[in-house]
Amino acid sequence: MSSPPPILDLKNVNKVYPSAGEAPVEVLRDIDLTLEAGSSTAIVGPSGSGKSTLLQIIGTLDRATSGTVRIAGQDVAGLSDDQLAELRSRMIGFVFQMHHLLPHCTALENVLVPVLANSKPGKDTVERARKLLDRVGLSHRLNHLPGQMSGGERQRTAIVRALINQPKLLLADEPTGALDRASAEALAVLLAELNREEKVTLIVVTHAPELAATMDRTLRIEDGRLLPTE
Ligand code: ADP
Ligand code: MG
Repeated sequence: MSSPPPILDLKNVNKVYPSAGEAPVEVLRDIDLTLEAGSSTAIVGPSGSGKSTLLQIIGTLDRATSGTVRIAGQDVAGLSDDQLAELRSRMIGFVFQMHHLLPHCTALENVLVPVLANSKPGKDTVERARKLLDRVGLSHRLNHLPGQMSGGERQRTAIVRALINQPKLLLADEPTGALDRASAEALAVLLAELNREEKVTLIVVTHAPELAATMDRTLRIEDGRLLPTE
């Protein structure tokens, strides 16, 4: 039996933004990236170097100008927007610098939002939501609104929301960027633990060395190219 395809496989990915009256901006150049299931990768690089653009392309929120993006063997270029939305909700979880929680929904309700997109949450799903919230130390916050939680608690809620559909890929764009140092360090440890426990492949874009250090490996974007770091 042949081995399964890698969870993520980028070949020769380029991204060029047209620019009115000026030369087009080449943000990503010939990016190759293959990730095995369950791995964790940090992506670092200066502001404006294309880290978010790369994460958006990996997450199928944006399309590459050229090159191939395969998720679990599936070339995403041939998929319609509806098919991409279906693939995202089944395979990919996102965490951003800002939590993007719904202000009038409790922590538990916010976690269930991605489930509601597909169906009414069953008993098992609600149980999973409670368990995960408990796992990240929020069992006493289930019925709190985002405004009643700390920054770290809101980010932990956002992580649980990203994990609720059991995604294969968890993409985090500067998830500790808005947190104080202690909360950022705690979140870094938590992400590394959840990567293993949930068997989710993790990619984290970050400026924080302590977060990058908790990942299996770190890659750097420089002049549009993705390079290994020592
Ligand atoms: P990073 O996340 O590393 O800070 P980004 O991926 O956000 O970098 O941006 C990389 C470059 O692409 C920047 O020069 C930015 O101005 C440019 N860029 C990003 N999005 C767009 C867009 N929609 N249109 C034109 N240029 C863009
Ligand atoms: Mg960015």
